[in-house]
Amino acid sequence: MTDRTSSAALIAPLTAPTVDAMRADMAAASQAGADMVELRLDYLATCDRDAVATLLADRPLPVIVTCRPARQGGRFAGDEAERLAILSVAAELGADYVDIEADVAPASRPGGRIILSHHDFSARPADLDAIVARLADSDADVVKVAFAAAGPEDALAALKVLHEADRPVIALAMGECGIVSRILAGKFGAFGTFASVRAGAESAPGQLTVEQMRGLYRWDEIGPATNVYGVIGCPIAHSMSPAIHNAAFAAAGMDAVYVPLRIEPGQENFRRFFGALAQAPWAGLRGVSVTIPHKENALALVGPEAVDELARRIGAINTVRIDPDGTLRGWNTDYAAATDALVSAMGIAREQLAGGAVAVVGAGGAARAIVAALAHYGANVTVYNRTFARAEKLAEEFGAAARPLDALADLSAEIIINCTSIGMHPHVDDTPVPADALAGVKVVFDTVYNPIETRLLAEAKAAGCRCVSGVDMFVNQAVAQFEAWTDREAPRGLMRDVVLERLGKPR
Ligand code: NAP
Repeated sequence: MTDRTSSAALIAPLTAPTVDAMRADMAAASQAGADMVELRLDYLATCDRDAVATLLADRPLPVIVTCRPARQGGRFAGDEAERLAILSVAAELGADYVDIEADVAPASRPGGRIILSHHDFSARPADLDAIVARLADSDADVVKVAFAAAGPEDALAALKVLHEADRPVIALAMGECGIVSRILAGKFGAFGTFASVRAGAESAPGQLTVEQMRGLYRWDEIGPATNVYGVIGCPIAHSMSPAIHNAAFAAAGMDAVYVPLRIEPGQENFRRFFGALAQAPWAGLRGVSVTIPHKENALALVGPEAVDELARRIGAINTVRIDPDGTLRGWNTDYAAATDALVSAMGIAREQLAGGAVAVVGAGGAARAIVAALAHYGANVTVYNRTFARAEKLAEEFGAAARPLDALADLSAEIIINCTSIGMHPHVDDTPVPADALAGVKVVFDTVYNPIETRLLAEAKAAGCRCVSGVDMFVNQAVAQFEAWTDREAPRGLMRDVVLERLGKPR
């Protein structure tokens, strides 16, 4: 094991269908920095004593031997006697650990060092505490419980098992909602957690790769004192925020990690997680970014008194800070990020937006934050939207004008801001504003950041307009979040580099 903060093992499950391929994956796992492998014999097309002996010979890493039956989510096709015989052979040939399911009678369990396990691929068991107590009451060397997560509160339940354990334990919540239980296994003293040798080789849903665990999530640095931050949203899998914030924490030398927290849509789901979190101050969650569809739920959670006036008027926040005593504070860093991206490109102060004619395209969440800020600083805003009624409603609320989207052909504005997804990858040939309408416009700001230069920005550049990319807004809001949580100056340049790299532009 390399020099690191926790002693938890990163275990790569090997799921290849042949002995040769599994041996090759064992070498790859060792190369990638796994501490142990799990030989999933139930994935082999055929398995006998020779196969087990070949797999165990000259192994580069300690092994767990598992031959999971279908009743616990495995693939073993033979009968139970055959399965138990293979596991006994593995123990006899010196496997470091043999995993055996807790529903196998003690008399039928193999010898050697045992991991006694319980899996539930449907949900967190209602009687989790009783299951854990029964496992803990055994004479197994390690006990393991794994169950499907419906929300990150189920991951907290798995982490609580680790937090309260006084013996070697593996506890994890499977699926995208449970990822945090894998990333934080080391913080809570787990025996280990599972990470695949490569994408596509997972043995259970929600497993990250060894490379992601060690690179993106800084597995080696995570320990008992690590502060936890995360991004709440749905979907969340493709968020760039973990890459940006983990790189920022590393650059700042902070003992902190940033994790994805998928919460399904619905205020009750959002509240369920924060209800569970209130009972889990030991979890160390110190701040969250909040994205679609929970920004309004986040404001309702922290309460209007915990945010500034503009955030209150917008009715949504994207940043929550959680102090150790449980106090919550909220920010809408979107409006400030957009306003500052615009004024810094123009070389003016926010107040100098007063009286300027601005065309805002779109009437969704991003448009709402931007229209609120522009109105606050006295700009003359016209909202253009496909669904005209939404444009009218937004405009009325903030004292702006409303026009249908096709009226963009004869707009008259100094500044255009696109707050729709028109032109976003993969529809890169689309643009919300006809090129002819750009003549005479001073500044064009496209909040879309993928691609970095949208068709709208390319045409604006050709028309001689000053261009502002969605990347500037994106980086600004991440910087503001980092600073709201940590009271430290964010490494802005590095955060921008990470965004550009993720978007495929060389630094
Ligand atoms: P939203 O609430 O779902 O609003 C989407 C807006 O886009 C609505 O006005 C919608 O019009 C319009 N729209 C979508 N597809 C359209 C189409 N094919 N033709 C015409 N109009 C269309 O989403 P949001 O949160 O406001 O985000 C909108 C965009 O802002 C995102 O796609 C993203 O590119 C950008 N954004 C950037 C950042 C950043 O940091 N750079 C942050 C947030 C958002 P209808 O009302 O007619 O449906």
